[in-house]
Amino acid sequence: MAALTEFELIDRFFRRPENSADNARGIVLGIGDDAALLALTPGNQLAASVDMLVSGRHFFADVEPEALGHKVLAVNLSDMAAMGATPRWALLAGALPDADAQWLKGFARGFFALATAHGVDLVGGDTTRGPLNLCVTLLGEVPAGKALLRSGALAGDSVWLSGALGDASLALAHHAGRVVLTADEAAACWNALLRPAPRIALGVRLRGLASAAIDVSDGLVGDLGHVLEASKVGALLELAAIPRSKALDRQLASSAHDVALRCLLAGGDDYELCFTAAPSHDRRVVALAIELGLELRRVGTIAAQPGLVVQDSSGRPLAPLPQAYDHFAA
Ligand code: ADP
Ligand code: MG
Repeated sequence: MAALTEFELIDRFFRRPENSADNARGIVLGIGDDAALLALTPGNQLAASVDMLVSGRHFFADVEPEALGHKVLAVNLSDMAAMGATPRWALLAGALPDADAQWLKGFARGFFALATAHGVDLVGGDTTRGPLNLCVTLLGEVPAGKALLRSGALAGDSVWLSGALGDASLALAHHAGRVVLTADEAAACWNALLRPAPRIALGVRLRGLASAAIDVSDGLVGDLGHVLEASKVGALLELAAIPRSKALDRQLASSAHDVALRCLLAGGDDYELCFTAAPSHDRRVVALAIELGLELRRVGTIAAQPGLVVQDSSGRPLAPLPQAYDHFAA
């Protein structure tokens, strides 16, 4: 087969009839012109975020293209969830080493399956040849003044976490030979790493309920740390309450305890939501967990005194706390 040109590639893999001009979807003009034209729902603010995934840094070069298509959108959807925004439109910028139709087909399958599930339309992008690198810009909307910020946590608020933390980084620890998982555990952890489920429904329902929110993409210690800093407060967490899988629990009880603890508290790539809410809302949050069929755990309390303390079951603070991953740290 002759090599695809840039425009054939866009037409064949990224331009979808269902993403073209459509008032109900806020698309005045979709893919094909110099810019898309979008119409925001009256009374809403635009939430805009961008996230880039670089081959060899954020994913293995030989990762299944379908998983990569899912993940590059999922990490961006997670930012919308953390703002309490409804995701609407995406722009996809990609550098590709070549126009490999098989690869593109798999990538598009993963991308559009997740986009469709969340009512997101791909309305533009940019395509170039280069070392594999994918960047999604996501646009969403949120009723004016209702976005969940990092800066709203108050002393006395409950601290909550969705899902379970640490499995994605446990998969990497297993890959590096630092822990030994069973085949079933490894499969579940790889799934957490490659197919994170963005908590969009939760984020939307937390409008007017949560006082602050963030998605745990770089590890709990670092990400909750951002909330504490922005809100000028501290927090006291119970280690035993932090939600984790059975696989991670098993590692915590083994000689690989330190590695497992780092995965749980500072692992990253979890894409769960960490949020705070007034203690008077505790029962509403519990009811919301049941309604959404999603585990929500109360893990601690916001304190007036700055600083994050995680205490073990005997009430002793962990020191030092494992720190978040930083792309530029030595
Ligand atoms: P320009 O030269 O104005 O940057 P391009 O030739 O790069 O335009 O793109 C043509 C059209 O295709 C534009 O509407 C652009 O948004 C869209 N597009 C390009 N790459 C992608 C992609 N990977 N996914 C979706 N739309 C894309
Ligand atoms: Mg362009």
